Amino acid sequence: MRIATELSPSRYSPTPRHEERHKAKVDRIARQLRQRTSTRPASFKKKTPPHQVPKHGDLRRGDDKIDLSDLDEILEIDPVTLTCTVEPAVTFDEVVQATLRHGLVPIIVPEHKTISLGGSVAGCSIESMSFKSGGFHDTCLEYEIITAKGDVLRCSPGENPLVFQMIHGSFGTLGVLSKLRFRLVRAAPYVHMTYETYDTLEAFQQAIFRHSTAQDVDYMDGQIFSATKHVLCLGRFTEEAPYTSRYDWLKAYCESIPVRQEDYLSTYDYLFRYDRGVTHVSPSSLVGRALFGKLVHSDSMLRAAHRFHRFLPKQNPSVIVDVFIPFSRTAEFMDWYHQEVRHYPVWCVPYKRVHDYEWLTPQWWSGVQDPLFLDLAVYGLQQPPGRNFYKEFEDELLRVNGTKTLISYNYYDEQTFWSLWNRDTYQAVKRLTDPDNVFRDLYTKTCRAALGLEGDSKN
Ligand SMILES: Cc1cc2nc3c(=O)[nH]c(=O)nc-3n(C[C@H](O)[C@H](O)[C@H](O)COP(=O)(O)OP(=O)(O)OC[C@H]3O[C@@H](n4cnc5c(N)ncnc54)[C@H](O)[C@@H]3O)c2cc1C
Repeated sequence: MRIATELSPSRYSPTPRHEERHKAKVDRIARQLRQRTSTRPASFKKKTPPHQVPKHGDLRRGDDKIDLSDLDEILEIDPVTLTCTVEPAVTFDEVVQATLRHGLVPIIVPEHKTISLGGSVAGCSIESMSFKSGGFHDTCLEYEIITAKGDVLRCSPGENPLVFQMIHGSFGTLGVLSKLRFRLVRAAPYVHMTYETYDTLEAFQQAIFRHSTAQDVDYMDGQIFSATKHVLCLGRFTEEAPYTSRYDWLKAYCESIPVRQEDYLSTYDYLFRYDRGVTHVSPSSLVGRALFGKLVHSDSMLRAAHRFHRFLPKQNPSVIVDVFIPFSRTAEFMDWYHQEVRHYPVWCVPYKRVHDYEWLTPQWWSGVQDPLFLDLAVYGLQQPPGRNFYKEFEDELLRVNGTKTLISYNYYDEQTFWSLWNRDTYQAVKRLTDPDNVFRDLYTKTCRAALGLEGDSKN
């Protein structure tokens, strides 16, 4: 990330030089797209590794690449309107460090430091603030998009509103997000954590509902350790702390959850408390951590996996998946999970239904009566031969009217996929932003190319 030196330290605001530089970058990408003669699909590269589950035969590695690496500047932090404008390759680590200097943070901060802001909009991003505000995209006010034809579009809830809504979860298939403006929130220097343990899922869910209705905490997530142990992690901003814990070397934050009653972390350390792992941290031994604990984190692991992708397993990869379950259907889903899967802990993030997203079908929404979803994330589940847990998760989601992020292995057939994801709204935007299908369509990219399967679906 570069922060322009001409920006004043008390308020970063764009200067003409700043705007010129951004325009030059946008022009370069627009020109590359306009002058393109290749018929190969195009996708993006940036300086940080993709936070998608690395897959052995992913065809997207062989795409023509549009380099977004230099779109890495924070353009404006406005402490009066509580907004921030950035280029998309800026990472959450960079934006949190810069905004904290003003006593502000983004409303949603996913926990891996090098997730980029553009990637989090085009892909997904949820965390312990989602019970109030949904995903990071729900806190965005405006995007600048470069279409596949090299045109530049501005979109917001009032201007090109369908494009604005559909960019989230489009996985780079509806154009290049080249600038975004989003809301900030005031932050104190520390977060006071308290932990509540519940024997039953019912009591755990009641507590989530209670806190989300009372809005008496700033942050809320949880972990399910078994059918009889559920821990809710509640964070409240505080100006002072009697001590602060660090979890960036010998100790791992996720291991503290089942054993502590309370804790204090600096706000920065809280936001990235799971950067070394949400439910498990490697190495696990003290000696291993003493030697390598500082080196092994989300960025180094993903960089290594992408670099040495040929060594990733072809068969039975371990499972990393996160699923959204309507709150009232969580008990059914977890009954299935305890019986069929039994891999713990499961990370839980309550997620507010802030908007009935246009990228899901009205039929799908008609099956959801709840104001909250529970996002459940499973990391590192080993698949025994003969089972495809990814597919089993998808089947179970159909039963409980859930959905999932598309960052991992996806086995939906095309018909089922488009009965969940909204083909009409998707195609309405695709016709405008990528009529020649330069970026592939969403199904082909996430359910076929990602698995190494050739072949386009019809637009
Ligand atoms: C191990 C693991 C744990 C994770 N944990 C969490 C979590 O707890 N919470 C959470 O919210 N998410 C989590 N994620 C998911 C992650 O936030 C999303 O995958 C996010 O989309 C990654 O962003 P990125 O910056 O790495 O972008 P990439 O992975 O590089 O890109 C994501 C998608 O967006 C597209 N894209 C990227 N930049 C642009 C752009 N400028 N314009 C248009 N399209 C673009 C890419 O083509 C790609 O399809 C996790 C992922 C992994 C692998």
